[in-house]
Formats: sequence, C-alpha cells, structure tokens
Amino acid sequence: MAFDIENYPLPFARDGLEPYMSVRTVDFHYDRHLGTYIKNLNDLIAGTKFESMTLEEIVRESDGKIFNNAAQVFNHNFFFAKLKKDSGTKIPSHITDTFKDFNSEFKAAALGIFGSGWAWLVDDNGTLKIITTANGDTPIAHGMKPLLCLDVWEHAYYLDYQNRRGDFVDAFLNHLVNWDLI
Ligand code: MN
Repeated sequence: MAFDIENYPLPFARDGLEPYMSVRTVDFHYDRHLGTYIKNLNDLIAGTKFESMTLEEIVRESDGKIFNNAAQVFNHNFFFAKLKKDSGTKIPSHITDTFKDFNSEFKAAALGIFGSGWAWLVDDNGTLKIITTANGDTPIAHGMKPLLCLDVWEHAYYLDYQNRRGDFVDAFLNHLVNWDLI
C-alpha cells in the first residue's frame, strides 16, 4: 500500500500560523519536505515486505533509508498535528508538576541538538521525559510514547527565523502548541 500525503492533512490553514510560522515555511515544509519523505518511502518499499505494513510497523521493523524516511513521515505528521495558533490552552498540570520549568527545559533540549533533530516530550513507561533525537530518529523506535515534538531541522525555521533557533522554539512553546491535544 502506498502512502499518500492526503492521509496526513494539516489541522490548520496554510496561513493559520502566521506570523509564527509563515505560509512559505508551511508550503515548503509540508509539500516539499514531508512530500519527499513520503515519495521516497513509497519508492523504497515497493516490492518489499514493508509494502503491507502500517507506517508505525515500518518504523519499528526497518533500518537504513527505509527507517529514515518512514520515521520522518511519522515525526512530521506528529509535529503538524499538534499545532494551533494561540489555542489559549495552558500546559496541563501533570506536565508542569513533573518539570521545574517545562518551557525552559524543553528549550534547552532543543537548543542542545547539534545539527538536525527533534525535541520531544515523551511518556517512557509512565514517566514524563524531555528527550531529543538526531536526524530522523523517533521515540517510537525506542519503546517510548511521544506526546509532543518540535522539528529543529533548519528547514523548519530558516525562512522565518534564519539561524535564530531559540526564537522559533519560543514561538512554538508560547504560540503554536495545542495543549488540548497533549
Ligand atoms: Mn521537517
């Protein structure tokens, strides 16, 4: 079964996250980057045992190029699904109770990633943790349940923030996370 970007619709209008995430960034990130991961994945799994698996099954059972592309499809869909501009919802108390200062700790993790990767809030066997993954790696490959993620590959923010990753992280935490879904 081939994957289709139509099955991963954005939960917001293309201009719905302005000015924190521009239409241009959304267009490039969703159409070009996610679109390319989906196309690559379809090309790589054609005629293999992975063709009959769900996306999460492929992530758990593959490695190399197939893993990288499948994990990036999962990660991007998870990222976009949790975005809503100024949703007005607060960080749930079970998260603020677990961390001394969730936003600062999440930001420090995101800034600490050298090169491309992802910052995550995960449930690791019942414990809430902030973790990072490099490149396309994903918590579901390590038995952890993701709750929230932030893409800090440069393509996620360079058009809007150039090299100011910290400003992008602040905009994400303060204006783009839909805490109702976390
Ligand atoms: Mn990305």
